[in-house]
Amino acid sequence: MDFRTACVHGSDKRYDVTGAVSVPIFQSATFAHPGVNRSTGFDYSRSQNPTREYLEAAVARLEGGTEALAFTSGMSAVSLVMELFSPGDHVIASDDLYGGSIRLFSNPSSNRGIAFTYVDTCDIKNVEAALSPATKAIFIETPSNPMMHVTDISALAGLAAAHGLVLIVDNTFMTPYLQRPLELGADIVIHSGTKYLGGHNDTLCGFVVVRDPALSERLRFLFKTIGPGLPPFDSWLLIRSLKTLALRMDAQQSNALALARWLLTQKMVDRVYYPGLQDHPQYETQRRQATGFGAMLSFSTDTPDTAVRILERVKLILYAESLGGVETLITYPMLQTHADIPEKEREAKGIDGRLLRLSVGVESAVDLIDDLDAAMNGR
Ligand SMILES: *Cc1c(COP(=O)(O)O)cnc(C)c1O
Repeated sequence: MDFRTACVHGSDKRYDVTGAVSVPIFQSATFAHPGVNRSTGFDYSRSQNPTREYLEAAVARLEGGTEALAFTSGMSAVSLVMELFSPGDHVIASDDLYGGSIRLFSNPSSNRGIAFTYVDTCDIKNVEAALSPATKAIFIETPSNPMMHVTDISALAGLAAAHGLVLIVDNTFMTPYLQRPLELGADIVIHSGTKYLGGHNDTLCGFVVVRDPALSERLRFLFKTIGPGLPPFDSWLLIRSLKTLALRMDAQQSNALALARWLLTQKMVDRVYYPGLQDHPQYETQRRQATGFGAMLSFSTDTPDTAVRILERVKLILYAESLGGVETLITYPMLQTHADIPEKEREAKGIDGRLLRLSVGVESAVDLIDDLDAAMNGR
């Protein structure tokens, strides 16, 4: 089935007899049993709820997994995956991760004695050098946030398999429409569904998708035990959002390319970080492992003053955290997503007072460029 069709038709699961085209919202915490030792398949919504089940089946199909779990946020999805590891275990992670993941990994109570080493995963040799007998997993984002570094997923999957490690890919930036890490050999895919999968800047949610039945059984057990499941109404909002995922991504990435090209012509812009530009260092890797370049881009201005001026003067583009929605957002990674990272470390990565990140939406590219032009060049 084509991806676009799968987006619209979600899952084959049916729960009602009325012929309703839209999946019902089963706003129920508990389910009555038809008899002793008999169940409708649903007992209690922490374990499973029909609306959430439908959403999970739809997402599993889109990512090419056997099972997906839907969470109340991306961070609760990352946290649950970390429950797979024990004190003394070691995880190698990309050095350019979502700030919230770094905060989780560096918080002594949430990392539960798990050690993390951050390396530039674009070069697999750095990952090899960081391996130790305690290493259990590799955790990456590609393209990364906010510097848009691209990691070769298949190459890393080969290394992970050779050493018996779990390869975890946060696929938030690409979505399964553009990149399917499980098909490239990854073991676990994570999403902040708040971003492209939800797509409207209105709902928090997260996903974990896996292929291996033993892994999915373990995650399902933890999920039911801890209780981070997405509520029925939010699940329904996500089912609705998924229907337009491919359409939104197409429009968003075509706008992003137009903005990236325009930014390159601006004298107050020093650098543009977008994997769809042919001089991006990992342009070829991106082309090989994904079917597009996404709609996230970062750029460095000539001075911090220019960056601040843009943030204060954009009108259509909103100065707000988050990404992936139909509205174009601009963020100041230094003060927002990456504020918790020590200054020296942050600046070494290029996340300084001149760096801005754009999440490009579905508005007209002409209007977006006009807005940036007016903000930057003061017309
Ligand atoms: C936003 C984000 C997260 C966290 O997701 P929430 O839904 O905000 O909890 C994790 N990873 C990436 C890449 C993100 O952009």
